[in-house]
Amino acid sequence: MNLITFRTKKLNIFPSKPFNSLKMKNSLILFTLLFLCACSPISEGDKDAKSNLESSVRPDYVIVLHGGAGTIVKENLTPELEKSITKTMNDALEIGKFVLDSNGTAMDAIQKVIMHLENSPHFNAGKGAVFTHDGEHELDASIMDGKTMDAGAVGGIKGFKNPILAAKAVMDNSPHVMLSGTGANTFCKEQGLEMVDKEYFYTERRWKSLQSVLEKEKNKMGAILENQDYKYGTVGCAVLDKHGNLAAGTSTGGMTNKRWGRIGDAPIIGAGTYANNNTCAISATGHGEYFIRYAVAHDISARMEHGGVSFNEASKAVVNNVLVDAGGSGGIIGVDKDGNVAMPFNTKGMYRAYLKSTGERYIGMFKD
Ligand code: ASP
Repeated sequence: MNLITFRTKKLNIFPSKPFNSLKMKNSLILFTLLFLCACSPISEGDKDAKSNLESSVRPDYVIVLHGGAGTIVKENLTPELEKSITKTMNDALEIGKFVLDSNGTAMDAIQKVIMHLENSPHFNAGKGAVFTHDGEHELDASIMDGKTMDAGAVGGIKGFKNPILAAKAVMDNSPHVMLSGTGANTFCKEQGLEMVDKEYFYTERRWKSLQSVLEKEKNKMGAILENQDYKYGTVGCAVLDKHGNLAAGTSTGGMTNKRWGRIGDAPIIGAGTYANNNTCAISATGHGEYFIRYAVAHDISARMEHGGVSFNEASKAVVNNVLVDAGGSGGIIGVDKDGNVAMPFNTKGMYRAYLKSTGERYIGMFKD
């Protein structure tokens, strides 16, 4: 299933005057056509689906999430896998909805949604994290509160089940924004964050990916950094809550075969994650080195704040022009202060979903 969009429309199907049998036949045909249009899931190319990203009425709340971008094409997914990934994203939306319906904050929702995605083997974060060159898992995450501009991040932590909680702990319980490596691990232990065995992170698919990149690397050093077909599976979430506050978070295992303590964009505030109540909340996925160099998430926000550009225009300009010109693949998801959603990507696909308090819900994977 490429896209699920549920919508309701008022249809004026009852003629006001009496009609003869021919008119009746035509009316019935018209009725049937309208009924079919209203009931069928609309395709990703449908204009309505796209314009619904922008809200004519400001919704009370909005949840947007991603599970990574890359070579995501229908041919590469079994129907079972597609169904399971769709369900995981839908369940994550439901978790966020529950938090926000219960008057929770954007920050609460971000953590709960991302924890659910981190606990799934489908995405490159938490349980499904990719392997480093040394066969380990080094996890990066960040979270930002658009109301206070507070932020927390961790880079290269090992053995912690939910890195997004580590990022939140840095924000709440340290005077810093970002901790990395050994020091970050010590801090997370002191915070009593749940730890898991190395085996918890083992997935056959990720192990095979490492083996295939290592094979490529025999011919070329640093193969991963040259590999444009790489599938990015980072997870992220952006939320506008009922109080008008924005927040964003991102969590990842980074890139397969990473080494030397490489840290990508996911824990870098302004690159992979950014939230500002004056503009928008964003989480990115893609080739992190480019997202860092071009300060992607902050650039989108700055274009809105200083250039008066809409969220949709700003995010498309950065993802489809700036990044493409630079050779950086990936995408972003986010929501602005008025509840407009943007989800541009320059790869073949991106796991993405959103839900608005108005009842509108979208789950997509592939390009038009
Ligand atoms: N952006 C992540 C990184 O470079 C990778 C991803 O999105 O999957 O670490």
